[in-house]
Amino acid sequence: MWLVECPSFWDQGLIRPLVTEGGEVVLMCDSCTAVWRTPAGIEEFDHVEPAAPDWSIGPDTHVRPGTTRWAGPADVTSAGWGDLQWRELPYAS
Ligand SMILES: [Zn+2]
Repeated sequence: MWLVECPSFWDQGLIRPLVTEGGEVVLMCDSCTAVWRTPAGIEEFDHVEPAAPDWSIGPDTHVRPGTTRWAGPADVTSAGWGDLQWRELPYAS
């Protein structure tokens, strides 16, 4: 599932919900890997760009490869984002 297209004008990625190792649901572009902590932050381009080696996206939160998974409907509902206009991926996830 995805929410909106990446707002970066040079990127055509899709912003998808992601569950961190700590269980937090965030939003990540599947192309440029920019992360937004909240849906409201997307329009404001209030993003973080996680990078090696710590892949930090904030205090005590990281998206280190291998520790995350793409979220599903139950995850976004528990995050309080269940009412957003989620869309089906154009490809198999
Ligand atoms: Zn992107």
